[in-house]
Amino acid sequence: MDHKKAHGILTEYLKKGNNRITPERFQVLDAALDYEGHFGADDLYIKMKNENYNVSRATVYNTLELLAKCHLLIKRNFGENITRYENEIEKKNHDHLICISCGKIKEFSDQRIKTLVNEICSKMGYEYSGYSFNIFGKCSKEECPGNKKSDNNEN
Ligand SMILES: [Zn+2]
Ligand SMILES: [Zn+2]
Repeated sequence: MDHKKAHGILTEYLKKGNNRITPERFQVLDAALDYEGHFGADDLYIKMKNENYNVSRATVYNTLELLAKCHLLIKRNFGENITRYENEIEKKNHDHLICISCGKIKEFSDQRIKTLVNEICSKMGYEYSGYSFNIFGKCSKEECPGNKKSDNNEN
């Protein structure tokens, strides 16, 4: 999906909810769609500031919420106290491995998980709306920078 289509979805959503249609919201949308990987609201805010966009932190925060509500972004929680977002429209369904040592996030996709989720839903009589599946562990020794620092080092 290109940005134009995404703009259309956001415009419709804003109109329906009687939200104001401001150019800042579309700047946030473009920056969010272009952001590689999984980002927190502050990551995006800082990136936009560095690129000289004139947006407030509050606008970034509440626009990201709106983008998640209209399914242009998906919210992720990797066990930290921050919500992360990622582009939902260009990626197929996937899940995550999180390294508890260095914080690296890897993506994988296995159809069996979705199948299992659907089975559980129908068995329990639930209408599916979403699921969350994260694996926490340590990535392989060679590639994990978290393994290189000793306890005496400053962070
Ligand atoms: Zn992901
Ligand atoms: Zn690691």
